[in-house]
Parts: sequence; C-alpha cells; structure tokens
Amino acid sequence: MTSGVVTRFAPSPTGYLHIGHAFSALFAYHKAKITEGRFILRIEDIDRTRCKPEFEDAILEDLSWLGIEWEEPVRRQSAHLDDYDKALDKLTELELIYPCFCTRGDIKAEIERAGGAPHGPEGPVYPGTCRHLSTSEREKKTLEGEPFALRIDSAKATDLTGTLNWFDQQSGQHAVELSAFGDVVLARKDIRTSYHLAVTVDDGLQGVTLITRGKDLADSTNIHRVLQSVLGYEMPTYHHHRILTDNTGKRFAKRDHSITLRALRKNGHSPEDIRRMVGLD
Ligand code: GLU
Repeated sequence: MTSGVVTRFAPSPTGYLHIGHAFSALFAYHKAKITEGRFILRIEDIDRTRCKPEFEDAILEDLSWLGIEWEEPVRRQSAHLDDYDKALDKLTELELIYPCFCTRGDIKAEIERAGGAPHGPEGPVYPGTCRHLSTSEREKKTLEGEPFALRIDSAKATDLTGTLNWFDQQSGQHAVELSAFGDVVLARKDIRTSYHLAVTVDDGLQGVTLITRGKDLADSTNIHRVLQSVLGYEMPTYHHHRILTDNTGKRFAKRDHSITLRALRKNGHSPEDIRRMVGLD
C-alpha cells in the first residue's frame, strides 16, 4: 500500500453539495485515512459570478456533519490569484502562451469558414486564429483595450515536454495527447486564470500526491500533466472514480435539490446512512 498520500476535495461553491459530492469527498478522505496521509479541502471559487459565500459556508458545514476533517487554513482560489499570475509569467517566458482576442462568434465563424474543426474532448478545437498574429498586431489590439484570453500553444508545449504519461490507480497508464485539445484557454478574459491552470498550480503548491476526482474530469488530466511538466511540479498519481447516478442512470446534478446533503439530513438521514448510500461505510 502507498504510504501517507496527500488527497484533496476541491468543490466549487456554486450550489449545495449532493450525494455525488459526498461520495467524492469521502473517497478522497478515505484514501488519506487508510494510508495515514493528509486530506486537504480546497474551495475552487475563481468564477466570481457563479460562486456564492453561502454555498461555501454550507460546504464546510455539510462536510463536517459527514465527519470529514480537513487541514486549516482552507485554500480559496480567489485569494491566490498571484500564484496563477506567476505561473502565467513563467509560461510567457517559455513562449508557451499567446493572447487570444477572439470572441465565441469569431471562433464559430472561423470554423465555418474552414469547413469545420476537429472535435476534441472539450469541444471543437480552437482554429488557432490568434496564434498567427504578429507582435505588432498583438500590441495594437492590446493598446486598443481589446480583451484577451491566454491560450497554450499546444504544439510548442508538446515539443518542449516530449512524451508524457500519467497513471491512474484504476485504469493504468495513459499517454498525453495535447493536440486532441488544441490550444486551450489558460487564462479567461474575465479572470486571469482558468480551471486547468488554477487546479494544476494548487495541486502542485499544496503537494497533493493522489488526485481523486470523478471520471468526467479524466480528459482534463492530459492538460494538467503538460502544465505540471512545464511549471516544474511533481507528478501526482490519479484515481478517477465512478460517477454516482440515480436509479435511471442519470448523474446527480446541483439542481436536483432532493439529493443535497441538507435535504437528506433534514429528512432524517444520518452521516452513516449517507456513507452506506455511497458505498463507503
Ligand atoms: N472544482 C471542480 C468541481 O467542483 C473539481 C476540480 C477537481 O477535482 O479537479 O467540479
């Protein structure tokens, strides 16, 4: 057995935790406990329009009710924007990112003009329009105040990293294919970071050694692995776990209020009932 892993649960406070979150949180917690490791709770609140303080309070309350104990202080991504800036500086130095001024409409029009785009795991692959802008075109647009996102130059990043792999405790070894994703956004126009960048920086800085999360996020790991390599973070091990579904096979969503931990608790369920329901008793 691996000894002393560091795991984390990293919810976004955009709603109340439901039974699927309970499974994910307990899964990470158990992995830490059985190895006498450490468990970290991280609040992923970079999206200021969707995240709400009351949901964050509810997350802490619900997890504590479930019997989960985490290390203090809890890291809130919104308080660490400097760390993401530093990572972006490093990526700029390495010439691995470029500003993208395209709107959704521009991208759609460009894809139509080109007669389509390959469909990657995150949707149609960005056609690379802004990758080809000259330095003076970039400067002009920036001076004119055109908002821009920052995208990774996936071809350059792949040249730099060479072949990369990541290992999942359940599904084994995976080879990274960044080209399937294209030049993904690492800093959005509205917030100078993105899920991919923030999660990689945080897991790296917090020394997470076993990343457990739902299978739905397994594709993203390819992007994170590239970022870990270029930013100089240790490679963690992964365990992408099953996604809990209801009895019709549909995954639980934040809008299904009946299966929030609050509703279950109000209906008389105990933390032990929840653990039994998710199969982690
Ligand atoms: N914050 C993400 C979510 O709530 C999870 C991120 C992760 O585990 O990598 O879906």
